[in-house]
Amino acid sequence: MSDTNEKFDYIIIGAGVAGLASAQYAARGGLKTLVIDISMPGGQALTIPTLENYPGVYPAVSGTQFCQNMRDQAESFGAVIIQSEVQSIDKVGSDFKIVTRKDSYIGTAILIATGAEHRKLGVPGEDKLEGRGVSYCATCDGPFFRNRKIFVIGGGDSACDEAMYLSTLTDDVTLVHRRDVLRAQKAVADRLLANPKVKVIFNAKVKEIKGEGRVQSIELEDTTDGSVTEHQCDAVFIFAGMNPVTQLVEMLPKDEGGYIKTDDDMKTLMPGLYAAGDIRSKSFRQVVTAVSDGAIAAHSAGEYVRNLKAKK
Ligand code: NAP
Repeated sequence: MSDTNEKFDYIIIGAGVAGLASAQYAARGGLKTLVIDISMPGGQALTIPTLENYPGVYPAVSGTQFCQNMRDQAESFGAVIIQSEVQSIDKVGSDFKIVTRKDSYIGTAILIATGAEHRKLGVPGEDKLEGRGVSYCATCDGPFFRNRKIFVIGGGDSACDEAMYLSTLTDDVTLVHRRDVLRAQKAVADRLLANPKVKVIFNAKVKEIKGEGRVQSIELEDTTDGSVTEHQCDAVFIFAGMNPVTQLVEMLPKDEGGYIKTDDDMKTLMPGLYAAGDIRSKSFRQVVTAVSDGAIAAHSAGEYVRNLKAKK
């Protein structure tokens, strides 16, 4: 590792839509801004087949196109976006030191926007058959199962949206939900329930995913009477919610779900350290709310940086 210690006003960790929006606002507002992500910019939004509920983006675009536009827009204002794994964040005087696998950087203000990652079911067969029919991304893996028998697990917006998308690839989609009512927003749930290509099994949980070398069947347990049924299938797409990625900021207070607590200005308890997007404790997680968080964080960080500079 080289120890460059290049200094930035604002360093954003995570280039999902919250991070990219914050980068655009900060760079446009005159902050020297660096964005670091372990993978390509866009995060979860990259997997949205059609982003149809972002105000003003009409007709709808793909998540990939939306993220590319956000990246181009942030870079056009001077934000620097690099791909690297951040290993630590440490307070050094009034600044923060960010150590990545390759380099280190100094930032006056930091935004943690590392989002959330897919929650696993933790059932037998899930790990063994991941990439062999078990998937957490319909856009990525759906096309491999064109005209095949697909099961979707979960009752939230993701499960319903992705089941709708998968029904464009095959007529044989079954969504399994552990309760008798979907968690998804009403418009999303209603559209799913009206789709003739999607069968819904309520009150059932996955007991096991079976197969030799590839998914061949799924075992379900009825939560009302405990009966177990086995269903032949070729793929199981799991959308059981998300876990926030908070390993870099274990020192910050979290809510009962493990999400980072901030105030309305995206400030955490540590001065100069902000949080935005799906990693943050809030009630409504959408692309539009992540983008809003990012813009607010940039505004707060700008004030913080300018105040510190004025005191020096
Ligand atoms: P979510 O809303 O947390 O839903 C997760 C679903 O998985 C729930 O139905 C949950 O069941 C079920 N589940 C959890 N653990 C399970 C287990 N072990 N076995 C079986 N089922 C299990 O997660 P999400 O759908 O990924 O959405 C995350 C956030 O992104 C939400 O805020 C959502 O609104 C947002 N989002 C929005 C859109 C959109 O606007 N179109 C699209 C995607 C995501 P219970 O209901 O019983 O808890």
